[in-house]
Amino acid sequence: MPWYKKLHWQIILGLVLGIVYGILAASSGWGGFVTDWISPFGTIFINGLRLIAVPLVLASLVMGVASLSDLRKLSRIGGKTIGIYLATTAIAVTIGLVIVNVMQPGKFIPEVLRDQLMSTYAEDVAGREAAAGDAAGRGPLQFLVDMVPSNFFASAADNRNMLQVVVMALFIGIGLIQLSKEKAKPLLDLVDSLNDVIIRLVDVIMLLAPIGVFALIAATITSVTGDDPSQVMGLLSGLGVYCIAVLLGLSIQTIVVYPSLLKIFSPMNIKTFFSGIAPAQLVAFSTSSSGATLPVTMERCEEKLGVSEEVSSFVLPLGATINMDGTAMYQAIAAVFIAQALDLGLGFGAQLTIILTALLASIGTAAVPGAGIIMLVIILEAIGVPTAGIALILGVDRILDMCRTVTNVTGDASVATIIAASEGQLGEPNLSELGDRVRISTS
Ligand code: ASP
Repeated sequence: MPWYKKLHWQIILGLVLGIVYGILAASSGWGGFVTDWISPFGTIFINGLRLIAVPLVLASLVMGVASLSDLRKLSRIGGKTIGIYLATTAIAVTIGLVIVNVMQPGKFIPEVLRDQLMSTYAEDVAGREAAAGDAAGRGPLQFLVDMVPSNFFASAADNRNMLQVVVMALFIGIGLIQLSKEKAKPLLDLVDSLNDVIIRLVDVIMLLAPIGVFALIAATITSVTGDDPSQVMGLLSGLGVYCIAVLLGLSIQTIVVYPSLLKIFSPMNIKTFFSGIAPAQLVAFSTSSSGATLPVTMERCEEKLGVSEEVSSFVLPLGATINMDGTAMYQAIAAVFIAQALDLGLGFGAQLTIILTALLASIGTAAVPGAGIIMLVIILEAIGVPTAGIALILGVDRILDMCRTVTNVTGDASVATIIAASEGQLGEPNLSELGDRVRISTS
């Protein structure tokens, strides 16, 4: 098949054209045109993906748990998955802390820019603080209480409640395991077929991906820059070292840590891995949402990398919800950066607190754009740094959000591959675009 027919090249083309068009539109003052005529296509694409996110998490996790067939197997794979997720996040936060302490990006921000940013973003900060206020200050175990929904429909009605949907799916799956085969069959068949329908829908939605990505990128550029791209350039030069620190950390995690883990714990060829998940990474980059990207991640892992449906349908929805290595790393770097910029020293104890709170905050971060910065407020509170400091980084947050979401999604796919390999459920990769799904029968 010629290269230009491959999905990821088409998406890359959409991305590049979106960047060029976005910059052109911003410098020519066409912001209004982009909002009215271009941006809706991006919204349609992202809405399509979000539309199927809740039913997908529900159906695939119910199937994932139920197909593990007994509670012992569930706790083995569940324990392994959560253990590796926590370990990769801890690695990410540690790398972030080393980078930010060595590079000291907070020392590079000019005082004038610091004061200007603090006053420009004062209002936005209040909004973020209010959102974080809902999450914080309600007792140490509140996050556990928040995970268990009291109403099925209320949780399923909001994509931000994905953690509750996960818990609901686990409950239903565990219930199904306890039933006799005969009793469980009708519901299992229904959920299985729903699952398959949704995965097929991903193919349909992805037909729009190149155009959707074009529109999302163009709209992001014009909305971030307003009609004056030079503003962003000024901001980028002041916050340049901070951005480089975050990007360096994310790159190390994405192209050194994950490939090393894959090499050690699976037979997966690294080039195959990255070509297999490239479309998911590109969708993550343009949507800034690992929740919206989940359907693509699942499809690519199953169809192209050979991860069995049993593993992918359990590990990936869980990962999209609780495993955010890029976000945790960014939160650690941002917290220390803000402390440095405000000239507040952070001792060893505070850095340790950052590791713990970033680990928990990333679990609680919703898989939607900009959620990471809201949870950052909680980390800042934990280490006693003024939360108004997030004003310093708000201006460049969207760009970094796009990049950290790529790391989040790559982390989920890597862990799914490793778990599949450890369970003997990693089939042959299949990189032809028209290839059939790789399925491993586990019954
Ligand atoms: N946008 C990120 C995600 O969906 C979360 C965040 O860091 O804001 O993975």
